Amino acid sequence: MKIHVKKEACVGHARCAAVAEDIFPLDENGYIAVTEIDVPPGKEERARRGARACPERIITIEE
Ligand code: SF4
Repeated sequence: MKIHVKKEACVGHARCAAVAEDIFPLDENGYIAVTEIDVPPGKEERARRGARACPERIITIEE
């Protein structure tokens, strides 16, 4: 599973990281730090929850 993040549209709620801080790294200002994430096996459900938690809907999942 891969995650794509439209990083430039991030407004820094940190809700993604609140759900799964090990999957969604933030920079020092609380914005998402990456545009692509390879989800390790076993963390798929938390990755989906983290993506759903983003109010800006900028996190998409590629199964
Ligand atoms: S929840 Fe969305 S807008 Fe907020 S930090 Fe995460 S990616 Fe950015």
